[in-house]
Amino acid sequence: MDPLHARYPFLAAARESVREADIGLVGVVTGDERHPAVERGVERVRRALVDGTVRPGPDGERRWSTRAELLSYPVARVLVSLVDAPGAVEKYASSEADTAYERFTDDFENPDDGLKSTADTAISLDALLAEFDLAGAVRETPSGDGYRVAVGRYLALSSNLDGESWTLATRQLADGAVKVSERELHELLREAVRQRVAAGLPTDVPDEIRAGLTDEVAELQDTFSEIDISRDIPVLAPDCFPPCVASLVERAQGGEDLSDPAEFALVSFLTSANADTDELLALCGVDGDTRAKAVRYRASRVGDESGAQYAPPSCETMAAYGECPVADDEDPTTDARCDSISHPLAYYEDALDTAENV
Ligand code: SF4
Repeated sequence: MDPLHARYPFLAAARESVREADIGLVGVVTGDERHPAVERGVERVRRALVDGTVRPGPDGERRWSTRAELLSYPVARVLVSLVDAPGAVEKYASSEADTAYERFTDDFENPDDGLKSTADTAISLDALLAEFDLAGAVRETPSGDGYRVAVGRYLALSSNLDGESWTLATRQLADGAVKVSERELHELLREAVRQRVAAGLPTDVPDEIRAGLTDEVAELQDTFSEIDISRDIPVLAPDCFPPCVASLVERAQGGEDLSDPAEFALVSFLTSANADTDELLALCGVDGDTRAKAVRYRASRVGDESGAQYAPPSCETMAAYGECPVADDEDPTTDARCDSISHPLAYYEDALDTAENV
């Protein structure tokens, strides 16, 4: 199997290679043991819904075989179709597109890195344009300062994109083509990927496959229901933070470099607790432009669009990350309120209610 297809599983050639290999989804999902493609498919959907990317987790970048990586895409499409949660399909398609965007822009800049192996897995701009039938619709400008995109294709790709700058009224239009910068062309390609991934989702899933993925869907449903409890709590009261969040704040302010899941938990909690940008940066112990940019970016990701898709993790997930002081095996914190809730936001709401009544 071609590693290029594993990096870009939405390509027509990737679909064809799965078909030619004659690997039935039924066989993959109904084996006695969980197939690596199913495991990676679950991770793919979970990461898409929670972290906005489908890249393997930080510990797993090299863990999956090309075959598992490639097959995880059709598995993920089935899983996301079975997860009964509003916004899951849209979020999944956006995350696939965002990840593809990171990869192809990197490929365009470093087509081979001097390594033959890299050249084999990188995609070129021409190949990606051809993939979306855009080869005849996109031309580099004679001066080389951008591209011209045939107006029909431009409208089809830009109509979902946010921002005044995408409207035709703000664009140079000549000879039926719209001028775009190189970066804008890449964003249009990201949208082309998103549209392709979203097409046909949710898909009809045969009963046999549905039955084979019951546990995986329940697992994801659990993740999504955690996420779905997000709601705005319009009071920022650090005294009422649960022990896990208080500890994260203390460590961040003490200069500790938090792990990705820990930083996600902290930023998403503070965003749900209505922290503004200055409060967020102060509670995350951020000084310095680079870190501030990263935290702001994280905050914009957890708080955007329907917001509810990016609530902080539940107590169970916090414990799995090793970020719940109450579940610490060696030196557990005791907190009676923690015994009665299953989510840090529920703790916070309860603590706020009590403080208000007092
Ligand atoms: S039980 Fe929940 S709220 Fe309490 S410290 Fe652990 S993760 Fe936080």
